Amino acid sequence: MAKQAKKRTTKKTAARRPRQAPKMLSDLFLETLKDIYFAENKILKTLPKMAEAANSKQLAAAFNKHLRETQGQVKRLEQIFKMLGKPARGKPCEAINGITDEGAEIMKDFKGAPALDAGLLAAAQAVEHYEISRYGTLRTWAEELGMQDAAKLLQATLDEEEATDHALTELATSVINLEAEQEYRDAA
Ligand code: FE
Ligand code: FE
Ligand code: FE
Repeated sequence: MAKQAKKRTTKKTAARRPRQAPKMLSDLFLETLKDIYFAENKILKTLPKMAEAANSKQLAAAFNKHLRETQGQVKRLEQIFKMLGKPARGKPCEAINGITDEGAEIMKDFKGAPALDAGLLAAAQAVEHYEISRYGTLRTWAEELGMQDAAKLLQATLDEEEATDHALTELATSVINLEAEQEYRDAA
């Protein structure tokens, strides 16, 4: 049923679409660059709130460290826009809006709760995983498009996102262990 309806709309819009240059990989590259540029700027606004909310000093330090890295990542993206001769402009990314909304919900619902840090870690890792997927794709496309300098910049950011993800995984183990101990003591 739904399939049929979808088919019909596709046909209609395809027939109505005016003739235009076919969209190439370079167009997709630029669109995806705008997507991650929006996402990084959103993350710049979110990380300070997460650092502020964290109970664990180590976790707050990890968020602040990644905030500084993120500032550099935004600059790298601006360099790539420049290489393309395009203005650095973001395009709303519903994925990052959704992921950060979930994080905000956890901060609100678990405010002052022992499980808050575990929730913040999970939210932060969801962000990193989105970024890792985007930067991996962009790096590969830059290589395919023969943009070696852009590929290097994207790889540098990808390395930082992966290192952050690993650091958060390590912290998740210690934070969750600490919390379990706390709950055990409270119950005793
Ligand atoms: Fe980033
Ligand atoms: Fe997106
Ligand atoms: Fe990141």
